[in-house]
Amino acid sequence: MNITACAKTDIGLSRQTNEDVFLADLNQGLFIVADGMGGHVAGEVASRTAVETVQRCLREAATENPGEVLEQAVHLANEAVQQAARENPSLHGMGTTLSILSLHSGRFYLAHVGDSRVYLLRNTVFQQLSNDHSLIGEQLRRGILTAEEAKHSSLGNILLQAIGLSPELDICRKTLTPHSGDRLLICSDGLTHMLSDESIREILQQSIPVSALCEALIAKAISAGGTDNVTVIVIQIEE
Ligand code: CA
Repeated sequence: MNITACAKTDIGLSRQTNEDVFLADLNQGLFIVADGMGGHVAGEVASRTAVETVQRCLREAATENPGEVLEQAVHLANEAVQQAARENPSLHGMGTTLSILSLHSGRFYLAHVGDSRVYLLRNTVFQQLSNDHSLIGEQLRRGILTAEEAKHSSLGNILLQAIGLSPELDICRKTLTPHSGDRLLICSDGLTHMLSDESIREILQQSIPVSALCEALIAKAISAGGTDNVTVIVIQIEE
C-alpha cells in the first residue's frame, strides 16, 4: 500500500491569528487536525499542545492495541491542555478539537473529539466518518432536526465537547481498512462552514495530486467567504 498526503492551512480573510494546527507525518503514519479556541494566543496553545502530546505519546507507545493507545493519547492530550490552563490564568478556558488518523499495520485508527471532520471518498461514495460533537450534530443524530433545518439553525457553533474543557471525554473511535483509490480528508470547520459536503466531494474526486486538492479546497473556502481559519489534510491510498 502506497500513501501520499498533503496538508495546508490558511488564516482566512477575517481572523487575526490561525488557531488551527495540523500534523501530517507519513513516516509515523499520523495525521491530525486540531482547531483551537480561547482567544489571544490561548487557542493556538491548546491546539499545539494537543497535537504535540498525541504525537509524543504514539511515538513512545507500545505497538499492540493501537486503538487503545490512540484513545489513551487523546486522554493525555486532554490532561495536558487542562494542566497548561491551570498553570497560566491567561490560558483559562482554552480548548481544541482533535481529529486523528493513525496508520498501523495497514489499518487506519480514527479518534475524534469536537467538530472538525474526517471524510472518506471511496469510489463515488463520500461519507463523514467522524461525529460532530456539536449541538446541531447531536440534534441531527437524534432526529430532532432535519439536515435542511440544521443548515438554517441559529445554534451555530455550540460545541458539546472539546479537548481541555472537562476531564470527561466521549471519544469517537473507528477503524478503517483502506482500499486502493480511497481518499481521506481531515479538515477544520473553516472548510465545512463555507462549503457543502457536495462541493467538497466535487473537488475531492478530481484527478489531480493531493497538493492540488488541498489548494483547491482552501481556495474554494476562501472564495466562499473565508471567515475562519481553514485547514485540510488529504490522504491518497494507492496500490
Ligand atoms: Ca474553526
